Amino acid sequence: MIDLSWVIDPIYIATIFFFIVGLQRMSHPLTARSGIVWAGAAMVIATLVTFLTPNLTNVALIAIGIVIGGGFGYIAAKRVAMTGMPQMVALFNGMGGGAAAGISAVELLGITNTATTSSLAVIGGLIGAVSFAGSIIAFLKLQGWMRPRPITFPGQKIVNMAVFALAVVSGILVVMQPSWVPLAVALYLPLFFVLSLGFGLLMTLPIGGADMPVVISMYNAFTGLAVALDGFSFATPNYAMVVAGIIVGAAGSLLTLNMARAMNRSITNVFFGAFGATEETGVEIKGSMKAIEADDVAVMLAYADKVIIAPGYGMAVAQAQQKVKELTDLLESKNIPVKFAIHPVAGRMPGHMNVLLAEAGVSYDHLFDRDEINPEFPATDVVLVIGANDTVNPAAHRQGSPLFGMPILDVEQAKNVIVLKRGQGKGFAGIENDLFYRDNTRMLYGDAQETVGRLVQALKKL
Ligand code: NDP
Repeated sequence: MIDLSWVIDPIYIATIFFFIVGLQRMSHPLTARSGIVWAGAAMVIATLVTFLTPNLTNVALIAIGIVIGGGFGYIAAKRVAMTGMPQMVALFNGMGGGAAAGISAVELLGITNTATTSSLAVIGGLIGAVSFAGSIIAFLKLQGWMRPRPITFPGQKIVNMAVFALAVVSGILVVMQPSWVPLAVALYLPLFFVLSLGFGLLMTLPIGGADMPVVISMYNAFTGLAVALDGFSFATPNYAMVVAGIIVGAAGSLLTLNMARAMNRSITNVFFGAFGATEETGVEIKGSMKAIEADDVAVMLAYADKVIIAPGYGMAVAQAQQKVKELTDLLESKNIPVKFAIHPVAGRMPGHMNVLLAEAGVSYDHLFDRDEINPEFPATDVVLVIGANDTVNPAAHRQGSPLFGMPILDVEQAKNVIVLKRGQGKGFAGIENDLFYRDNTRMLYGDAQETVGRLVQALKKL
């Protein structure tokens, strides 16, 4: 058979170029779709060219794995609703971490390891296993199969640190023992992975719902780092893995910092703060929730000089974005300017609102981030809060509240606040929202697609 292995590295380098172009294109919503295609094509090429590796064994097994994994990924991605995307990202990212840990395990079972390659495989294995276990917990919390509130117990930090220290010690033992020594294979290696997975699990349990954006992006960075370390741990480094891993690690780290900044939280605080673990005590919300009908809201809107829409997760659940666009067009046709207030963690994934509104055809010049729009609320006649809750909860301004410190959209400063939601449901963080009880707030109950539709109809009649 002709040896084509010499083409592997040049093609890997070409795919690295593709990855970078892909990432660069993903940085703008208009080119993001083609960015995904560039990066996806690069991944397919890098995978195929790897089959040219000399003396590759278990080809059939690898092919079966690719068909099963690829088939599952394809069907899951085709079927997932936009609102389920964050948990799918968490799950797929977890699979990446698990794959990296698996590669480390295979490497550590090999007999050609040096202390350096074993150390890299151990570090990659630890990070990959933590990312795998942590991402699964994030998936369960986002999917609603586990309660999103922090799960805490006495002495938790000490237990977590002890498990981490034991994982490190067992990892050192794995490196120090040549892997063909039965003890290392039979005892240290499984122990190392069990402890690493356990640490990932324990580390994620006390993290509450509102902090999930930071957690998902951080595990994303972890997976990239684990893959890069694994790429180095082979006798001949795999450059595609190294560079792709570093790109994911760097991009994930930047996203983590951005998300943490959006929540005004430090990374240590996210991982050790158990945000939202305790309910605020001694605070009684005064007032009552006052319902309003769509016809009355339409009249308010028709006489408004300025309207701001603050969308949140509920708009995504209701798939109300098309109706929201219709409402916006209608108001603008009546010379009522409409702006959108976009909170960086609204919805369930970074950029969630931007994606939905872009899909509905709302132009980018209508979208304003929190710092740009907050000064405008006091001079705004009507704010429509469409399925947002945590991101507009004024409790964030109150010392002692579990949300204290999280920057929010200050919608409560507007002259009139209309909240569109189905009922008494709390936000993702599970914290009561006193915005709904304020004198200037009215509740328009129902599924957001249906209530915005009613607003459109009522406005048309005026
Ligand atoms: P929230 O998740 O805080 O609240 C959503 C509200 O929408 C609920 O109160 C619910 O009330 C309402 N709702 C649900 N379905 C509908 C529907 N069909 N029609 C109308 N209303 C509906 O939303 P926010 O966007 O304000 O906040 C996002 C939260 O998610 C933050 O805590 C953030 O930290 C977290 N998060 C964000 C991620 C990201 O990357 N953006 C990732 C993971 C978590 P009701 O049941 O009464 O209708």
